[in-house]
Amino acid sequence: MKTFKIVQKEVKVIEQHVCDICGSDMIPDRYNSFDASEITIEAKIGSVVPGGDLREKFSIDCCSDCFQYQVVPLIENKFKIRFKENSMDLES
Ligand SMILES: [Zn+2]
Repeated sequence: MKTFKIVQKEVKVIEQHVCDICGSDMIPDRYNSFDASEITIEAKIGSVVPGGDLREKFSIDCCSDCFQYQVVPLIENKFKIRFKENSMDLES
């Protein structure tokens, strides 16, 4: 037999998430928008050993507008490369 009790627990939620480039609020209004943009600019450099993770993490928080109109053109122009663009429908 299982018995249940109701407990309250603290949950950590994002209070504020701003773009490091333009300072805009990046928390989408899920009730008024279907925006599901996800941008991750991150690197983990180093080694993982049995005793622990020795990697150094580098990251910035970036909104979709800054990624599309600032970061992508900057990297493409600097390194003469093109980002791959794929519909998420085709990847599933
Ligand atoms: Zn931005």
